[in-house]
Amino acid sequence: PLYKNYSAKRYFSVEAAQATEEGKAKYEFQAETRMLLDIVAKSLYSEKEVFVRELISNASDALEKFRYALLSGVSSLEEADRPLEILIDTDKHGRILTLQDTGIGMTRDELISNLGVIARSGSKQFLEELKNKEKSDDSNIIGQFGVGFYSAFMVADKVEVYTRSSGHEGLKWSSDGSGVYEIQPVEGVKLGTKIVLHLKTECREFADEDTIKKIIQKYSNFVGSPIILNGTKT
Ligand code: ADP
Ligand code: MG
Repeated sequence: PLYKNYSAKRYFSVEAAQATEEGKAKYEFQAETRMLLDIVAKSLYSEKEVFVRELISNASDALEKFRYALLSGVSSLEEADRPLEILIDTDKHGRILTLQDTGIGMTRDELISNLGVIARSGSKQFLEELKNKEKSDDSNIIGQFGVGFYSAFMVADKVEVYTRSSGHEGLKWSSDGSGVYEIQPVEGVKLGTKIVLHLKTECREFADEDTIKKIIQKYSNFVGSPIILNGTKT
């Protein structure tokens, strides 16, 4: 089975992380993650729109975590009174979809352990399921188990994550979904997380406001925070 072609090597080395210029550090995805990304990126799964639900649900979780931090009296939270919301912007000409939240954000360690390694139970089950198959019939199992953040790579050939957690530096994570990703410190990142999807040509519909609006209405009606699409509350 496909699964066995991947070694169980660890996902990054400290040396690699220190080697590059301008604070830019390169990391390797964990072997399982690499396999998952391969499959997701090449997937012909027809309901690609579910990535919107996955990313909104992550944004919503991040906002809940921030609210929880507030309630549990974590002091010294920066901009504790900021509006807690999800901002989605479409750029049809640039073929870009952006999803931003003002939630808890991520530190470098969190970026590495949350986006570089598969922890999510759905994704684990997905891989288990693949192990049992001779040929990867992705179309059903992606839908069945969900692949969380990685579903972004069904529609994007480049994903950038700008994130900042209170008391930490702003970071940019980026990957084209192949074996590696980069993290570098950047100035001016807002608290929370912004995901920038550079859409594949054949997925340009997801940079269309009406399309996104319909998908939000379909999947994300019960999100506990306001969703603002191109400046207007949905
Ligand atoms: P799950 O949501 O099931 O944990 P995902 O693949 O969707 O799995 O996300 C992996 C992890 O990445 C999340 O658990 C969270 O820690 C982190 N993450 C993803 N998106 C965000 C976000 N917008 N803000 C903060 N953390 C995030
Ligand atoms: Mg998720």
